[in-house]
Amino acid sequence: MSRLLFITFLCLSFNASAKWYSHSFEIMGTQAKVEFEWSQLNDLSSETKAKELIQQVVSEMSRVDRLMSPFKTNSELSMINRQDSKQAIKISKELFKLLEKANHFSVITHGAFDISFSSVGYLYEYRKNIRPTDEQIQSLKSAINYKNIKLNKENHTVYFSDPRIKIDLGGIAKGHAVDMCIELLQSAGVKNAYVSAGGDSRLIGKKNDRLWYIGVRHPRDENKLLVNLPLEEVSLSTSGDYERFFIEDGVRYHHIIDPNTGESAKYMQSATVLADDSTTADALSTSLFVLGVKKGMELINSLPGVSAIVVDRHGKMFVSKDLSESN
Ligand code: ADP
Ligand code: MG
Repeated sequence: MSRLLFITFLCLSFNASAKWYSHSFEIMGTQAKVEFEWSQLNDLSSETKAKELIQQVVSEMSRVDRLMSPFKTNSELSMINRQDSKQAIKISKELFKLLEKANHFSVITHGAFDISFSSVGYLYEYRKNIRPTDEQIQSLKSAINYKNIKLNKENHTVYFSDPRIKIDLGGIAKGHAVDMCIELLQSAGVKNAYVSAGGDSRLIGKKNDRLWYIGVRHPRDENKLLVNLPLEEVSLSTSGDYERFFIEDGVRYHHIIDPNTGESAKYMQSATVLADDSTTADALSTSLFVLGVKKGMELINSLPGVSAIVVDRHGKMFVSKDLSESN
């Protein structure tokens, strides 16, 4: 928390009535960034207000983290994971809604996106090169099943019909946090902004009257860009096998788990999704990574307003139909 006390503000550029503000910070185990134009009068109170807005974005991200982190023992998510399985427990409206959204993505991806991946996934500790044994995977794999997460809309309760289930929102929570921060900026009157958390970003308006340019990194060379996209009013999320991983005997063990096998998904190196909101882009990039090129692109091509760029396990790039037609 102490790092929050040492926030530095960087003023990038300004003209008579508008200034750009940018701030990078660490949250949810990753790098986050906010950048926006504050076009009120350039008096002192306006400058103070812009800095307050940055503070509010940082606080909002850490609020979502405190609610949804699987690593914080007092998060609401950890409380659900500790529950006695037969006991339905009441949760906040925000978490309930996100669980409903997660369920929606599980349904449309036929279970490729499944927050109960963590029933096995919690046994991986990538930084320490620790992974579950084959026996553990075999015995817990059947606990991965989103259908056993029972949500009650009237009472806002959740319970697990399989006591072995653990859930983790790592595939959707950062997107949600980005959406919340963009909403916050918009309600303060900001028109042009960029917010990112790890591989999830969303942008509104323009950057100095031009389109935003967002680079997607090459999955096997962090100094190279796969593409640099001119964008406007869109969210973008990339899931890659290079984020959290270790290699043992030539096998890459990484943080995106195929619910069918309980092991790291094998078909992709990276999956990038563009969508209207960040929650959707986040959930779909994780899903696409699990589904592989054929099934994944079939899904993306069936969803209006959603595009994708993927790199398969051989390093070959594919784009969704709308992008190939616009070339
Ligand atoms: P990141 O930006 O953290 O790399 P991704 O969007 O690529 O996030 O999602 C990876 C995270 O999603 C994992 O760290 C894990 O928490 C979660 N996850 C892994 N496999 C699945 C899955 N099959 N369904 C839903 N969430 C998953
Ligand atoms: Mg994701």
